[in-house]
Amino acid sequence: MEIRLDKLRKEFASVAAVDDLDITIPEGSLVGLLGPSGCGKSTTLFMIAGLYKPTAGRIFFGKEDITTISPEKRGIGLVFQNYALYPHMTALQNITFPLENLKVPKKEARERAQEMADLVQIGDLLDRKPSQLSGGQQQRVAIARALVKKPRVLLLDEPLSNLDARLRLETRKEIRRLQRETGITTIYVTHDQEEAMSITDEIVLMNRGVLQQKDSPQEMYRRPANRFVAEFLGNPPINILKGEVKNSRVYIQGTPIGEAPGVPDRSVDIGIRPENWGPAEEGLKATATFIERIGKDTIINVDLGGRPARAITGSDADLT
Ligand code: ATP
Repeated sequence: MEIRLDKLRKEFASVAAVDDLDITIPEGSLVGLLGPSGCGKSTTLFMIAGLYKPTAGRIFFGKEDITTISPEKRGIGLVFQNYALYPHMTALQNITFPLENLKVPKKEARERAQEMADLVQIGDLLDRKPSQLSGGQQQRVAIARALVKKPRVLLLDEPLSNLDARLRLETRKEIRRLQRETGITTIYVTHDQEEAMSITDEIVLMNRGVLQQKDSPQEMYRRPANRFVAEFLGNPPINILKGEVKNSRVYIQGTPIGEAPGVPDRSVDIGIRPENWGPAEEGLKATATFIERIGKDTIINVDLGGRPARAITGSDADLT
């Protein structure tokens, strides 16, 4: 189901938490809502879920305007970071619970729960209570519970933030697989750029309620729409250096580093990703300040005419 937001807006005490957001999320895609804390990700998701009423704007599922429809009638599956399972119920009872409200016959409910549990690979743990499951297993129960109603869209709000690093990696791959297998349109809220970059088809990057860019992760990384996007994505972060354009050439500290056809002469800020430094005929002079080895990568911190900069290399072969 395609999701379309049309000038969607939410104000809290006249401050726009979400500021006229216009986006279309294609049917069957997995889209990450990404941005720093307080940028409006959860508020956007809650409006799509029907938990918050927009101040202005419309929300469409396909051709249907669902802006004023109650949450239960929207056909959504919701998963939060705290799994919110019922502690006194088994995994099976937790998963079938939404079906009881829908008056689905017991036998069918049980079969559907088993199918979903198998899909998220907890099919043999259905008799356990939440306290007898690991965090990752509990989150899978929560996902199975969200999917068992066969929702039109799946909304995930930081679903992995309570898991440890390794489990996060595994579970995010699982979510990707699950999303591909079910083909369900999914919105995934995260503040973790790596998570968003690794599993989504597209990222919607927000800052202070305002859309900054909507693109595939690769495109956004290579062609950031503005400086905020350039600086938000990438770890270690992009270097921003002072430079100048003169006669269509770009200089840093008097050293030519590239061409800028058609750009008038002026001072500029130049963004260079740490992995994009290359050899030059007449290189920039920099002094290494310290070197960090992180796994297979080596990060070289330098002083470039009084300003810090960073380079990253896959090996330390060319460090001498
Ligand atoms: P985080 O990653 O920290 O969860 P977020 O991007 O999800 O952040 P939101 O929770 O959507 O951000 O909040 C957006 C802005 O709206 C913030 O400035 C927040 O303080 C404000 N806000 C959110 N909910 C309310 C509320 N119920 N009342 C008043 N202000 C709110």
